[in-house]
Amino acid sequence: KEPVLEIQNLCVDYGLGKESVQAVRDVSLTLHRGEVLGLAGESGSGKSTLAYGLTRLLPPPGVITGGKVIYHQPGGDPVDVLRLSDAGLRQFRWAETSIVFQGAMNSLNPVHTVASQLMDVIAAHEPKMSKSARLARAKELLKLVGISPDRLGSYPHQLSGGMRQRVMIGMALALEPQVVIMDEPTTALDVVMQRQILRQLVDLRERLGFSVLFITHDLSLLVEFSDRIAIMYGGRIVEEAPAAKLYKDPLHPYSHGLLNAFPPLRGERRELSGIPGSPPDLRSMPTGCAFHPRCPKAFDPCRTDLPLLAAPADRTEEDRTGGERTVACWLHPGA
Ligand code: ATP
Ligand code: SF4
Ligand code: MG
Repeated sequence: KEPVLEIQNLCVDYGLGKESVQAVRDVSLTLHRGEVLGLAGESGSGKSTLAYGLTRLLPPPGVITGGKVIYHQPGGDPVDVLRLSDAGLRQFRWAETSIVFQGAMNSLNPVHTVASQLMDVIAAHEPKMSKSARLARAKELLKLVGISPDRLGSYPHQLSGGMRQRVMIGMALALEPQVVIMDEPTTALDVVMQRQILRQLVDLRERLGFSVLFITHDLSLLVEFSDRIAIMYGGRIVEEAPAAKLYKDPLHPYSHGLLNAFPPLRGERRELSGIPGSPPDLRSMPTGCAFHPRCPKAFDPCRTDLPLLAAPADRTEEDRTGGERTVACWLHPGA
């Protein structure tokens, strides 16, 4: 599998000096060409911070304090994203990697029609394209996301939430990016709508060949739609595995808890239990494993020693050597 985006040891702080909190801690994650990688974790685990950090869209006082982001252009040299010039960054953001923010469906401009907003995105990057060509492209994009072209003249308030979300996805796809990052694009929508939109995104991925980093706290959606899943807790990735393996055999007690916190969309029903306690306070992170105060299986080393992500020694040869799955938990120490 060919990597398209490699995040290496990324660290992000909010604030400087003594007042700062570390929201993303030493995160390494690889997105491969054509895959859907799901990122899950409770509120505050650092998912959005990771997405903003890697696209360099962090709002102040966010600062990247370490690590690397490498983007592999098709047929070109690898790009060191954190060192890109402003011009290079603009190109990277829209044409190579495009991001649909949390709550983006409410960021459409209320006083402009859908057509004019789509055409503006195209014009910003293809200034020489004629107006009629841009209109045709806008029509095509709407069709792609399942909206009838007679909606071109609609204003955002005339569309349902689901349609506004689709328009945002259409905009994100306008320049045929290699990577699409979706940060909880569907939480404001009902479950049926969420699934429809995700299914459509996965279909488009198959047709257009882009890769997706999909961020949500609803692990049951990820299990159904992603190829691989990474679980985040307290700013760190605590487990990463192919979706089916994570579902069948979650190794980290937090992953286990998350799986039991949402109703499964299909397959056997698990008893919903959720996870007792609340996410850690970044200003006073627990020592050792950050999950230990909430972990039903915590034992001695958990309180003092930080477990690092590693291939679990107690799983199959394939799991251990194929780079198929990793976990950061003292119950499953590395080989
Ligand atoms: P959610 O599921 O609620 O979107 P998330 O996983 O995306 O959560 P982030 O928004 O990345 O989490 O936040 C990670 C941590 O960083 C949180 O503890 C949050 O309080 C902190 N944080 C986020 N933005 C800021 C900011 N502007 N200043 C200070 N701390 C921040
Ligand atoms: Fe629980 Fe210990 Fe594993 Fe942390 S390292 S998840 S506290 S068993
Ligand atoms: Mg978020």
